[in-house]
Parts: sequence; C-alpha cells; structure tokens
Amino acid sequence: MKQPKHIAILGSTGSIGRSSLEVIASFPDALKVTYLTAHRNIDLLREQVRHFQPRGVVVLEERNAAVLRKTIGSATEILVGEEGMHEVVRRDDVDLVISSLVGFAGLKPTLTAIEAGKDIALANKETLVVAGELVMRKVREHGVQLIPIDSEHSAILQCLRGEQLDSVERLILTASGGPFLHHRKEQFRVITVEQALNHPTWKMGNKITIDSATLMNKGLEVIEAFWLFGLPPEKIGVVIHPQSIIHSMVEFADGSIKAQLGMPDMKIPIQYALMYPERPGRAFRKLNFGAVGQMTFLEPDLEKFRCLSLAYKALALGGTAPAVMNAANEVAVQLFLEERLPFDQIPSVIEDALTNHTQSHQCTLDDIILADRTSREHVMHQVSLTQ
Ligand code: MG
Repeated sequence: MKQPKHIAILGSTGSIGRSSLEVIASFPDALKVTYLTAHRNIDLLREQVRHFQPRGVVVLEERNAAVLRKTIGSATEILVGEEGMHEVVRRDDVDLVISSLVGFAGLKPTLTAIEAGKDIALANKETLVVAGELVMRKVREHGVQLIPIDSEHSAILQCLRGEQLDSVERLILTASGGPFLHHRKEQFRVITVEQALNHPTWKMGNKITIDSATLMNKGLEVIEAFWLFGLPPEKIGVVIHPQSIIHSMVEFADGSIKAQLGMPDMKIPIQYALMYPERPGRAFRKLNFGAVGQMTFLEPDLEKFRCLSLAYKALALGGTAPAVMNAANEVAVQLFLEERLPFDQIPSVIEDALTNHTQSHQCTLDDIILADRTSREHVMHQVSLTQ
C-alpha cells in the first residue's frame, strides 16, 4: 500500500486550515497530519490535537504553549514562535505543507518549506503577490510542486491540464463581485464592517472577505495567476459572475473556452491540491443546475472598485511595488476592521503608498521585507495625520 502523505498545516485554526482538516479526515489512508500551527485560537487547536494526534504543534506565544502543556498529552510536542514553524516544515516527517497563514506572515515559512524540498498547497496568495519571482525560482531550483488552493487558480490549473501554454489566449478569473456589487459609489463611504463581512457566496476569513468586498482579492489573484502560470498581465482578465459557480476559465487561440464549475466550497480545491493529480470520489455537495437556475456575467466597474486597477498597476510597475501595495492593503483592511478607516478610503491609502514608494527592481527577500515594512509605516503615519 502507498504511504500516506504527511502534512503540516500552517494556520490550522483558520478557515482554510479547518476545511483542510475536514478533507484530510476523509482520506485517512492517503493523508496524515503531522504538524499543526496556530496563533490565537488555542481552544480549537487543543480540539484538533485530540482528534488528529499530530506529532507536534506550533504556537506563536509562550503563554499559549504553557496553557497547552497542561491540557494535551505528552505524545504531542509543543514548539514555540516563528522558529518553531520554520523547524517543523523542515522535518523529515513532512511531505507537504499547507500554507494557509494570512497575509505577509505566510511568506517566510513557505520559503523555508520550499527550500527544504517540501511540496506546497498554497492558500496564502500574498506569498506570490509580494515575492512571486523569488518563490517561483525556489520552486524550480528545489523541484517541488506548488499547487494553488485558491479556487480560481485551481480552476485554471484544471483547465490547462493537457493543453499547451502557447495556445492560451487569456485566463479569465471569475469574481463574485462581493456584497457591494450593486451599491452606488457614493454609498461606499458608509459601509459598515458587518456589511462588508457578509459575503454573498463564500464563507471565508475576515481579511479575504474584506478583500473580496473591495475586489482587491481579485487584484491579488491576478498577480498570483501571473506568477503561477507565467502569462503576461494583458492575458489575465476578470469577469464578474455573482453565482460563483464557474471558478475560472481559460480561452484558447481557436476561440474555445474551458471552464471549471462546482459548488462554492473550498474543500473541493483543497482536495484537488492535496491529492493532485488524482481525483478520488468524495461526498461533496454536488452542483444542481436546476437549483442554480441561471449564471450571469458582467464587466468589473473599475471606477467603483479601484483596488482592482491598483493591482494591475502594481504588477506593471513590478519589483517591490506589489509588496508595497499588499502591505498598504493589509494595514488598511485592519484599520477598516477596527473602524478607524472608512471603506472607501482603502484604495486611496493603497494608491498613496504606491505613489510614495521608491521603486526597487531588486527583489531579494531583504528588499521585499524592507518594502513591506516601509509601506506599513507610511500608511500608519498618513492615517494618524488625518485622525
Ligand atoms: Mg479566490
């Protein structure tokens, strides 16, 4: 019998982490969790340890480690801090790392895992947005597989199977349009956190839900697609498809278009990434066309959703510009969630950060870390001036 794939999950208590564990639990012979890492939700981590009995867990703070030590058995090792995360992804009892931390924090441990020769199931799109060139170079150097969990990129990967890249005319990323698709631009100023967190079709973590409401999520995904599939920005388009049934499409030179469809359930792309290239059966909710009724499409309104154009702009600028954009967005989203920044100011903050940043075409890890930090400081400074 084939050995099970040993898996470490970075960010096991988040939305993707929880869905990943559900997928893993349904393939006990093929998939086995060896390490879990979590930040704050120690109660859920404890529950996950009881259920999955990993060899080790990583928590970021010593006080959380102390709490865990008292309540979980000695069979599970407890490691602490970022160092702990870097250590577990290097270990021999890990074949594949699910990278599902949120934001820039996912970059360094993902790079460490790649350098240690581990395959990656990537949910943390920011890793490719800020350091796509570096990450893809390491992937090639170390001969590892990097499979996207993001539903759009999973769809494109599936549509591209068996095809020649030079016959691709266009990648078409679908976007639900988020909760404010039909809001007028003037209404954007008074959008509340509660409204923005209420996504119409997908259940996700807070950061990505706000990114979906501004359409920055699609902008990040355009950059992610650029690095994953190696096509120029003008061949990566976006179409609004509110039902989220078509997860993305590929148009070929002969005018033919392939699409991947399914229920909007992240467990489907997660399973595809973990079992790639196999497709074992599982009792997912199946798509019922009668219940879907109709599928509609419209062009994105770039006047209303400026974040999407800002992402294309950052991609065109290249170098550290996407890292600057990403950092400004992360800070702006956090400030919005804390009710310290109006919703309609999120793109303004990002645009300002991009305008003020000194372009660097060098893209070492140090350059990227510096660009990220400078952009965060710039945004915090600007916002504090206006408050
Ligand atoms: Mg997505």
